[in-house]
Amino acid sequence: MALSIYNSLAREKQIFEPVRPGRVHMYVCGPTVYNDAHLGHGKTYVNFDIIVRYLRYLGFQVLYVQNITDVGHILDSGEDRILKGAQREQMQPMQLVEHYTRRYFADMDRLNVLRPDISPRATGHIPEMLEWIQRLIDGGHAYVADGSVYFDVSSWESYGKLSGRRLEEAQTGTRVQLADDKRAPEDFALWRKAEPEHIMRWNSPWGVGYPGWHIECTVMSTKYLGQPFDIHGGGVENKFPHHESEIAQAEAAHGEGYARYWVHNGMLMIRGEEMHKSLGNFISLEAAFERWDPMAIRFFILQSHYRGPLDLTEESLDAAARGLERLYGTVRAVRRQLESAPAGEASPETLQMLDTARNAFEASMDDDFGTPGAIAALFDLSRATNVQLGTGLTQGDLMAIDGAFKRLAGDVLGVLPDELGESDAPELSRGLIELLIETRRNLRAARAFDLADQVRDGLGALGVQLQDGPEGTSWTIG
Ligand SMILES: [Zn+2]
Repeated sequence: MALSIYNSLAREKQIFEPVRPGRVHMYVCGPTVYNDAHLGHGKTYVNFDIIVRYLRYLGFQVLYVQNITDVGHILDSGEDRILKGAQREQMQPMQLVEHYTRRYFADMDRLNVLRPDISPRATGHIPEMLEWIQRLIDGGHAYVADGSVYFDVSSWESYGKLSGRRLEEAQTGTRVQLADDKRAPEDFALWRKAEPEHIMRWNSPWGVGYPGWHIECTVMSTKYLGQPFDIHGGGVENKFPHHESEIAQAEAAHGEGYARYWVHNGMLMIRGEEMHKSLGNFISLEAAFERWDPMAIRFFILQSHYRGPLDLTEESLDAAARGLERLYGTVRAVRRQLESAPAGEASPETLQMLDTARNAFEASMDDDFGTPGAIAALFDLSRATNVQLGTGLTQGDLMAIDGAFKRLAGDVLGVLPDELGESDAPELSRGLIELLIETRRNLRAARAFDLADQVRDGLGALGVQLQDGPEGTSWTIG
């Protein structure tokens, strides 16, 4: 089956065809590093991590670029986010950038998000931006006004083709001093004049200033990935004006065709509301990790399709953690049995079971990276495995099953660590379960079958499933 991707630019699912055979060049808008990453960042970068991992699973050579925005991303108040953060923390801007970049990657590491191949920083690409802006001026697509340079939206007819919008309504009435020298409200800054107190500043042919946010991504993506490249990703909230403007600048300077597939992921909501500091529901990843295992958070994110919004409640995250523990229970049981299983090849039944699981998993992932269906396929495999565990599986069977979990749940979904700890169940619980299993065995030996069944059913009601096999009784949670 071929991979299809929902392309926001075409507003439909399309069969994926890379620009360069066998290779995928992919860019995702990275964080503006002025604050700690929050759960919304977690969703975004886990969503794109899955796309990278699945493309690699399919055999593509993926070159993944995700930038670090360290200048030019302006708040509604007109302030640069980095400068605002630097004032707040009493740091130099680049000190702040370094601090939050490190913390960002540490958070992503815990979520098992693979690092991008290249993480370019905006401040490291000022000469390329100046060149690009000059080209737009020379081509009649940008103009200088009082030391700033603006993109002339009226010069670019297809502006709006991604988002269907040309004007940022919210902008009217704000940033008055910036808007004054613009010819039209929809024009956006490529280069901003730096006021004397603005400490992040560079020389340019138009005076001392700093770059606009949109030009950064156009310049950094094409520098490393060429033009056109395959996939451009980002949060749906950045479709307009950020991505729309990226396309206009790229195509006005270097002709039609910037990124082929535009992939947008949905927002994270907290109990039905957008996460926002003013609502008091802003949850940093660091705070979330205190309450939940990062793997459970990752698993929770993947239970929804990347394009949809994801509504987080404590209950739903707890449920995800329990679901993941059920999968782990099966993998642990497989690995425990492997220690004492008889030698032998994998049986045709086992291989058939794994084929079925793999096909269902790939069919879901091929359909626009459908992680919910992929997870459902893993739960089906888990249930089928639990049934098989009591039937005297050989080492070959168990290794094949373990291998499938490692590949699908580990390599692709990134929710199964290579080394699975013995159990998250506290030692006491494990001890009690083993004790009850022994008691049940003794009751059966004494032919007190009713009492033995009571023990089994009681454990089952608590979510502990027993499997009787030739080697004795094993158990899984789930
Ligand atoms: Zn961007």
